[in-house]
Amino acid sequence: MIRERHLFGPGPSNPYPEATRALAEPLLGHLDPEFLRIMDETCDMLRTVWGTDNARTLPLSATGSAGMEAAFVNTVHPGDVVVVAVNGLFGQRMTDVAARCGAEVVAVEHDWGHPVDVDRVLSAHPSPAIIAAVHAETSTGVRSDIAALGAGKGDALLLTDAVTSIGGIELRADAWGVDIGYAGTQKCLGVAPGLAPFTINDRAFERRVEKPRSWYLDLGMLGGYVGEAGVKGGQRTYHHTAPTAMVASLHGGLTRILDEGLEAVWARHQEAGDTLQAGLQEMGLELFAAEGSRLPELTTVKVPEGVDSAAVRTQLLDRHGIEIGAGAGAYAASVWRIGLMGRNARPDAVLLVLAALQDVLD
Ligand code: PLP
Repeated sequence: MIRERHLFGPGPSNPYPEATRALAEPLLGHLDPEFLRIMDETCDMLRTVWGTDNARTLPLSATGSAGMEAAFVNTVHPGDVVVVAVNGLFGQRMTDVAARCGAEVVAVEHDWGHPVDVDRVLSAHPSPAIIAAVHAETSTGVRSDIAALGAGKGDALLLTDAVTSIGGIELRADAWGVDIGYAGTQKCLGVAPGLAPFTINDRAFERRVEKPRSWYLDLGMLGGYVGEAGVKGGQRTYHHTAPTAMVASLHGGLTRILDEGLEAVWARHQEAGDTLQAGLQEMGLELFAAEGSRLPELTTVKVPEGVDSAAVRTQLLDRHGIEIGAGAGAYAASVWRIGLMGRNARPDAVLLVLAALQDVLD
């Protein structure tokens, strides 16, 4: 029997009970009318959390990284210039994925812990096909201004990673000019890992690669999987076997979020993050992410001089059943990452992690 954990790392987070309960319901076939209703409703609710009217909004059957692959493999034509804002690990990953799709990548490097410099990104190339940026950099705990990139993108397509922002902080894909977006279920949506909520507008879809190198992630073929061209109630065609239990679980998590109210959920994340960050600083700890751009749902903390970062994480897990994350990349041993995402964005979780950290550091 596995002991219950408090998943206060960079994800997965503890799922909402509605998402967990859905996994215990009878399994449905992937063409069962009841499942098709659940899929339709899930796509509708995803449109709400994305802040989009895009017909082509669906949960891809794989994790967030597959969302990233789908975004690039469907939109990068060989030799296209793709400007990527790199301010952490996931921006870096984008450069790799875009290059594998045949892009001429222009990477705009930033110091980790800082938000994307919009002017530098927009002036990096005179006519890029795509500008790509991560909204919430999970590796550093930093939020970037996607709306400003959208306002200045010109003819380029704006491709956005919303893995750690969706369901946690303000996200308005249409209003901000996001043409292609991908996300994950395991962070602020409060569902287990396994699906990649994805959205693409007509502008980007019309410019897509006719026959992308990936069969599984070919958005042209996936349209029929969620109904004709992604339109609700459209004709279903078999593409792959939908992970019906996971979609039902996502349906449960999204229902919970929308019942609470999306803006109320954002406010709950903000309050939890603010309280945690204030509490950590009161303990004498220093935050890593630049002030003014800190994510509430993912806090990065500098490991104090002389403290063994891995030993602290082990003790938190062994003594308190709490998982927090190590830092990413070069900051693996010098930064901790504390996530309060989805169900965990609550005052009692803040108190718990602060008290446990104090106990282990004493
Ligand atoms: N992008 C960001 C910002 C992430 O935080 C993650 C995962 O942590 C990913 C992409 C990749 O998602 P996954 O690990 O679900 O494949």
